[in-house]
Amino acid sequence: MENRPYAETDLLVLLGEALAVGGSNAIEYQEARGQAKLATSDVLPIDCNRQERALFEQMGIVFHEPVDGLFVRVDLPEGWHKAPTHHAMWTDLVDNRGRKRAAIFYRAAFYDRSAHMNAVARLTYLTQPDGGYTDDYAAERLKPKECIVLDTATDGILWRVALPPEPPYNHATDGPEVRQSWLDYQDLRRGAEFHAECWLNQHFPDWRNPVAYWDAETLAGRDGGAMNTCPLCNNPYRLGYTGTVRGCDSCLGVTRDAEGYAWEPAETCHIYEDVATGKLTAVQRGDALPGEEPQL
Ligand SMILES: [Zn+2]
Repeated sequence: MENRPYAETDLLVLLGEALAVGGSNAIEYQEARGQAKLATSDVLPIDCNRQERALFEQMGIVFHEPVDGLFVRVDLPEGWHKAPTHHAMWTDLVDNRGRKRAAIFYRAAFYDRSAHMNAVARLTYLTQPDGGYTDDYAAERLKPKECIVLDTATDGILWRVALPPEPPYNHATDGPEVRQSWLDYQDLRRGAEFHAECWLNQHFPDWRNPVAYWDAETLAGRDGGAMNTCPLCNNPYRLGYTGTVRGCDSCLGVTRDAEGYAWEPAETCHIYEDVATGKLTAVQRGDALPGEEPQL
C-alpha cells in the first residue's frame, strides 16, 4: 500500500477546505492534515539536511524509490513509527524504545511544499534557563541559567554548571558599562559551553555521531552517577549522592552521614541484615555503619 502525504497540492482541495473551515485557517488546516498523513505513511523526506543518508541506513531504515520531489518510500525498523508533535510542521521519528531519533519537517501548504529530516544525537549540550524552558518567556529571561550536557533519550542531565542570569542589554539605549556586563556574561557562557564540549569529548568521544550510544538504556553522568531531575524543584541531582528516587535531598530534607547513607527527616534508626547470617543490626542516626570506623 502506498500513502501519499504529498498529494495535498490541489487548489480545489484547498478551496474546499477554505469554504469548510474559513479563510486563512484553511492553510493551517492543510498543514495539520499533511502532518497527520505523514505520520501514518511509509515515507520520509529525501532531504537529510546535510546529513548522509547512510546515517539513516545505519539506523536500520531501508530506502526505496522516491514518490515525488520531496519524499522517498522507506521501510522503518521493527517498532519504529512517526509521531506528530504540537507543531503542525514537525513530526518525530520514534524508535522501538519510544526515543526520538529524528525530527521531520514538512510544510504541506500547496504554495510552498518542503520537507527535510535531521537525525538526533543521543548527547548534546546547551545553555538554558535554570530548570529548563517554560512558556513564560518574561520570567525565564530573569532566571539564572545553566549549561548542561543532556541525554536526549531520557532528558537526564549528565553534567551541569550554574550560570547567573543574562544581564539585560539594549544596544540602542544602554551605555558601555551595561554593554560590558553583557559581554562578560557571554564570555562566561562560552566558557561553560567549552567545558561541556571538553567533558563530552572526554567521556563520549563520538557524541556528535547521531547513531552512537543509542544501545545504552541510561548514560552515566559526572563522577559515574546518573543525573536525575527532581520532580519537586526540577533541579538536577545525582541518585544515591544528592538525592533519592523520590527527589533531591534538599526538597526531601534528607541528610547523609559520613558513609553517604541517606537519612529521611523522621528516621532515627536503620536496620541492616547480614546476608550471610541473617543477623540484624540496628544503627542509630549519627552512628557509623556496622564494621566500619567512623570518618573523622
Ligand atoms: Zn528538589
